[in-house]
Amino acid sequence: MPRAFITGITGQDGQHLAEFLHAKGYEVFGLVKGQNNPRMVQMRDEFPYVEPVPGDLADLPSLVKALEFAQPDEVYNLGAISFVAVSFNQAELTANITGLGVLRMLEAIRMVGGAKNNPIRLYQASSSEMFGKVRETPQTELTPFHPRSPYGCAKVFGHDIVVNYRESYDLFACSGILFNHEGPRRGLEFVTRKVTNSVARIKLGLQQEIVLGNLDSKRDWGYAGDYVKAMWLMLQQDQPDDYVVATGQTNSIEDLVALAFAEVGIENWRDYVRQDPKFFRPAEVDLLIGDSSKARIQLGWKPEVDFASLIKMMVAHDLRFEGDKIR
Ligand code: GDP
Repeated sequence: MPRAFITGITGQDGQHLAEFLHAKGYEVFGLVKGQNNPRMVQMRDEFPYVEPVPGDLADLPSLVKALEFAQPDEVYNLGAISFVAVSFNQAELTANITGLGVLRMLEAIRMVGGAKNNPIRLYQASSSEMFGKVRETPQTELTPFHPRSPYGCAKVFGHDIVVNYRESYDLFACSGILFNHEGPRRGLEFVTRKVTNSVARIKLGLQQEIVLGNLDSKRDWGYAGDYVKAMWLMLQQDQPDDYVVATGQTNSIEDLVALAFAEVGIENWRDYVRQDPKFFRPAEVDLLIGDSSKARIQLGWKPEVDFASLIKMMVAHDLRFEGDKIR
């Protein structure tokens, strides 16, 4: 039975990946930080097959112990302070966990190593936020980085240190440059889920309006369930490499809002939306659109869920989720 160790196991991608790897016959271990972590209760109920391992991306000895315990064939480093808006207020913490956490994981892998003929393989969650103020459109693996937030800067460090350790120590380490990927498991702080959840609540009479920031920025949004497959495929190749994972379609926040409201039969969406400067960011990423040709050709990967189907899925989920609370 192959063994996988996932950081960020309680997050959106960790949950999708755990499900995916379990279905493939993997034994799945998840790094869980903190004492009495409240998300663990949900994990135990929904993912009883995941074995929790205590540790923290800020603590190298704990990562070494965790790897010694789990003895993984594959490590998926998804753990991060991942919300861009928070990273502006907690920049040092973001640099420590999202950036230096990658370095600690690489060092832990070097120390623990794995079986001689089967060294540990690493997947690093890189991000389209590294492109920031984009230098070219669409963005590929070769597009220069210009991050626009402490989160983006920390992800650039993580990306570069993976390349450096791969070249310096011959590690099997890959980075997936994943564009925004969403779904019903997305946290309510991210704009897609904030919108689909608010639209559901407005439809059910639980909420009057949605308060948002910048409506003009554009993102290449895909479905998280499709994207975890690309992570796994990267680690099954003969050689480690970096890949852009994206749909190649871009939509604005305004498109997202209009589509979500249309799903519940509301056309005059502007009557329900208010903008507040507190949701604007000190520096914005205006446009992201990825070219995932390399992943499509070399990994045979492609997204199955398009933007309209994604929003439909999320609104339907949130109508059930919010409806259940009042029934
Ligand atoms: P990001 O691409 O990782 O920053 O993902 P988010 O879902 O947090 O934000 C996507 C875009 O939506 C950014 O350009 C935000 O400025 C914009 N946006 C506009 N209003 C909001 C809001 O109320 N919440 C969030 N999270 N983003 C917003």
